[in-house]
Amino acid sequence: MSLDADVVIVGAGPVGLVIALMIARQGISVTVLERFSEVIQSPRAMAYGPAAVVELERAGIAAECRQIGMEESDYHVQIRWITRDNKKIAGYERPSGVNMGGYAPVLCGQHKVADIILRHLSEYPHAKILWDHEVTEIRDQGDKGATAVCDTKDGGKAEITGRYLVGSDGARSTVRKLIGCTFDGFTYDKRVVATNVYYPFRDYGFTLAQFIVDPEDFALVPPPTPSCISVFKWLRLDREMFPRRDVSLLLRRRRLPDIRTTPRPSGL
Ligand SMILES: Cc1cc2nc3c(=O)[nH]c(=O)nc-3n(C[C@H](O)[C@H](O)[C@H](O)COP(=O)(O)OP(=O)(O)OC[C@H]3O[C@@H](n4cnc5c(N)ncnc54)[C@H](O)[C@@H]3O)c2cc1C
Repeated sequence: MSLDADVVIVGAGPVGLVIALMIARQGISVTVLERFSEVIQSPRAMAYGPAAVVELERAGIAAECRQIGMEESDYHVQIRWITRDNKKIAGYERPSGVNMGGYAPVLCGQHKVADIILRHLSEYPHAKILWDHEVTEIRDQGDKGATAVCDTKDGGKAEITGRYLVGSDGARSTVRKLIGCTFDGFTYDKRVVATNVYYPFRDYGFTLAQFIVDPEDFALVPPPTPSCISVFKWLRLDREMFPRRDVSLLLRRRRLPDIRTTPRPSGL
C-alpha cells in the first residue's frame, strides 16, 4: 500500500480548503477529495464570526477576502428588524472600526473565499484536489493511515490513502457516519431556502442586515453588494409539506430563481 498524500481531506468546503492550505504551507502533501466537480456555488456564508476571521488571518487570506468582498465603507452598518412592508421595529448601528477578535470584519461570499484558497493551493505542487470523487467507504490501515474509497464521475472507483484522513464533508458528513460518530441534537421541522433576489434593495433603505419579522414570511436579508442588487432570501417551508426532493424540483422549475445558474454580481 503506497501513500498518495500525507493528509487526505474529504470535502472542499471552507473547512477542508482552509485546512488544506494551512497544511500545504507547511510543506506537507495533501489531497482533497470532493464529490462535486466544483466548489458549491449556492448562496451560503457571507459574514464571518470572530473565530472564523482569526482562521482566515492564520491562513493568510483575510486581506484578499476583504478586497474582493465588502469594506465597511461599502454599506450602512445598521442592523434592523423590520415588518414585511419594511417598517422598522428595532435596530442598532454597529460601531464602525470595532474589530472582531482584534481583526477587521470579513464580508465575502463563501464561494469567493474558496476561489482565493484554490488559487493559493495551485502554487503548491504537493497539494491536489480531486473533483468528482465521492467518498463512500473508509478503510483503517492502522499505523499506516487510512484509505478513502471513492465513486468517480465515470462510474469507476478510486482508492486514496493518506497517513491522516480529515473528515470535513459538512453537516451530513459521510466520514462521521462511517467512523460511527454521533451528531446529537435536533432538526427544526421547517425548511429554510436561501436564494438570491436581484432588486435595488438599497434604494428602499435596506442596510447591512435585516430580519423580516413575520409569522409567515420570516426572512433574513443580508448585505446587498456595493452595486446594491443582490440578497439572500430565506423562505420557511414545512418539512412535511415540502420534502427535500420537491424543493429541488421547485427550484429547477424556476418558480423560485435557480440558485445554481443565477449570475451573481461581483463581490457577493
Ligand atoms: C444559506 C446559508 C447561509 C450561511 N451564512 C453563513 C454566514 O454568513 N456566516 C457563516 O459563518 N456561516 C454561514 N453559513 C454556514 C456555512 O455555510 C457552513 O458553516 C460552512 O459551509 C461549513 O463548511 P464545511 O466545510 O464544514 O462544510 P460544507 O460547506 O458543507 O462543505 C462540505 C463539502 O464536502 C463535500 N462532500 C460531502 N460529502 C462528501 C463525500 N462523501 N465525499 C466527498 N465530498 C463530500 C460537499 O460537496 C462540500 O463541498 C451559512 C449556510 C447557509 C446554508
